[in-house]
Amino acid sequence: MEGIVEGLIDLIFPPLCAFCGTPLAKDGKVEICQGCLRNIRFISPPICPTCGLPFPLEMGEDHLCGQCLQRQWHFGSARALGLYEGTMREAIHHLKYSGRSFLAKPLVELLERGYPFIDYGSYDILVPVPLHPKRLRERGFNQALLLGKAIGRREGVSCRGFVLKKARWSFPQISLSLKEREENVRGSFSVADPAAVRGKRILLIDDVMTTGSTVNECARELLKAGAGEVDVFTLARVV
Ligand SMILES: [Zn+2]
Ligand SMILES: [Zn+2]
Repeated sequence: MEGIVEGLIDLIFPPLCAFCGTPLAKDGKVEICQGCLRNIRFISPPICPTCGLPFPLEMGEDHLCGQCLQRQWHFGSARALGLYEGTMREAIHHLKYSGRSFLAKPLVELLERGYPFIDYGSYDILVPVPLHPKRLRERGFNQALLLGKAIGRREGVSCRGFVLKKARWSFPQISLSLKEREENVRGSFSVADPAAVRGKRILLIDDVMTTGSTVNECARELLKAGAGEVDVFTLARVV
């Protein structure tokens, strides 16, 4: 009986693609249509083993990228699910700027389809990149916290939203050079709860990694406060 009722409900109100609203054939957990799925480029090897930058297939084996040969990273490794383009870019944009906080869950369900880079269970805690309180008031939520919570629920790891805080306002990074970005974020984060990070293996969570300056600065602060190890996971990566 329940099955029949459910079937009727699906007939009258078919499940919709979370990203574009197209009615879906019910298959599995991911609320995404084939069109949106085709517009996502999931990252898979060959990649840079440190920052996770994907290489063209013909470049063969994993090897350090040019950036990693030059920059000093504080995190151990960084990985991203997909490229910041197409469906991924639009969905993250709507999540952040159109208040569509409900998109965090279907975005995280995409982990199902991505390359299995990360052993989430090997981390003690997930720590989302925080927003400055002023930005948080404007937006109403921290997208990295929503993503961290959804990943934590899915993978059975505790997400700790308030161990890191953004103490100093930094300007939007969009028009800045790499060096300016690093200076812009330097000293803008601090650890609010050092006892929560001491000796811990931490996975830092954010929506997008661009140059890596933000996550690098967060990792630096976490290590300074006594964290054992910090790796990074972002949904998307700008290449
Ligand atoms: Zn769709
Ligand atoms: Zn690299």
